[in-house]
Amino acid sequence: MRIEKEKPMTGKRLLIIDDDPMIGRTISAIAESISVETIYTVDAGEFFQHAADWAPTHIAVDLVMPEMDGIQVLAELAHRGCNARIIITSGQGHRILEAAKRSAAWRGLNIIAVLGKPFSPASLRELLMESGNTSSVVDRLPGSLEQGAMYEFREEELQQALNENQFHLVYQPKLECQSGNLAGFEALVRWQQPGGAVVPPDRFIPLAERTGLIDSLTEHVLDEGIAWFSGFTRKLTTTHPEEFERNVLGGLTLSINISVRTLANSSLMESIENRCLMWKVPTSSIIFELTETSAMEDPVFSLDLLTRLRLKGFQLSIDDFGTGFSSMLQLVRLPFSEIKVDKSFVMTASDSAEHRTVIKSIVGLGHNLGLKCTAEGLEDPRTLQYLRDVGCDLVQGYHISRPLRSDQIEEWVMEKLGLS
Ligand code: C2E
Ligand code: CA
Ligand code: CA
Repeated sequence: MRIEKEKPMTGKRLLIIDDDPMIGRTISAIAESISVETIYTVDAGEFFQHAADWAPTHIAVDLVMPEMDGIQVLAELAHRGCNARIIITSGQGHRILEAAKRSAAWRGLNIIAVLGKPFSPASLRELLMESGNTSSVVDRLPGSLEQGAMYEFREEELQQALNENQFHLVYQPKLECQSGNLAGFEALVRWQQPGGAVVPPDRFIPLAERTGLIDSLTEHVLDEGIAWFSGFTRKLTTTHPEEFERNVLGGLTLSINISVRTLANSSLMESIENRCLMWKVPTSSIIFELTETSAMEDPVFSLDLLTRLRLKGFQLSIDDFGTGFSSMLQLVRLPFSEIKVDKSFVMTASDSAEHRTVIKSIVGLGHNLGLKCTAEGLEDPRTLQYLRDVGCDLVQGYHISRPLRSDQIEEWVMEKLGLS
């Protein structure tokens, strides 16, 4: 049922699904009181219809419903590429709510809060009034896409974007945890559409992987990334020879995300070494990041390929560690040089003792296996202190810097070095 409004609207639209009409109407009323337009429904079919047609900016999902539970609703929203701000509501215990939130966040949904029932009207109002977006400035989609519309890209669109060179890289700095020195950058791909919208990778990498376009995309990433890194480090050695001398900037690395499918493309893998030779970039400064689950799909196949890359001098990182199902044994068998603690633990470490324990265990495991440990998704200073205390080696996250365009990096580095 749609609640009609007469007051001026904020442009915010909240879609609510809850099997309890009392609660649904209460949420509606709270939202309406701050001029947020609402639609409340108990029916899953109707809910998805509104989610597609009405482009809600916010969605409130009850976890426990008779017809289709909240987890299924969230999975379907993720499948449809929903980027509305989602509030999970439920009377369940804290651990169940946290698990639901984690699963939804892993699926790429923008979960802004979990509200245990009963919740205070003030906490809901506060959430709806927040204007901040958790995604980075360069990540945001302008226009209607940002309003939460769901749109699934098609293979032809991706192919055309590749033909027209609509992809570029942004780079997120990575620091040494203890000294705070710059250690390197992670290259993250962006799709800049002709209309100006910037599409984040989670919305097209899975499509690229399914359709085999990932190899062309990776070639583009390698071309742009290695060329940029070569130019950037060469420039720094001439403009800041002292910092290189003191090793404050020496040994910088460039991390590149590689889909495991790409590993099977032997000619592409061979060509990476040639690119390094051409740009005079030592192979040891390139780190390939593979996700835990993908690297484990076929351990024997992966073992050969990864070992060959290590023999060529490249470094290998196991990404998103803690979210997959690898055992310690599998980790020992594959020749990784770095382990990256998944951001879902790091982002929440300051208020989750459980997540702090997971981080500490992963750092211990990594060190016992002789691996460098990186924590990604650092968003607050308390967590940085914790990471230092547990001896984590490297760190990256919004607290240090969001991913930056190549033309922004030099300024960031100068500021970081206190040279600007
Ligand atoms: P990832 O490899 O885990 O990359 C880290 C993601 O976390 C990036 O999202 C980054 O912008 C985001 N991030 C960094 N610090 C923080 C923080 O403090 N808080 C939060 N909330 N997020 C943070 P992004 O750029 O949207 O990339 C998403 C994923 O897409 C990447 O996850 C990676 O798996 C994939 N990806 C990105 N570029 C490429 C690429 O060139 N090739 C392939 N195959 N995959 C890529
Ligand atoms: Ca990564
Ligand atoms: Ca990661």
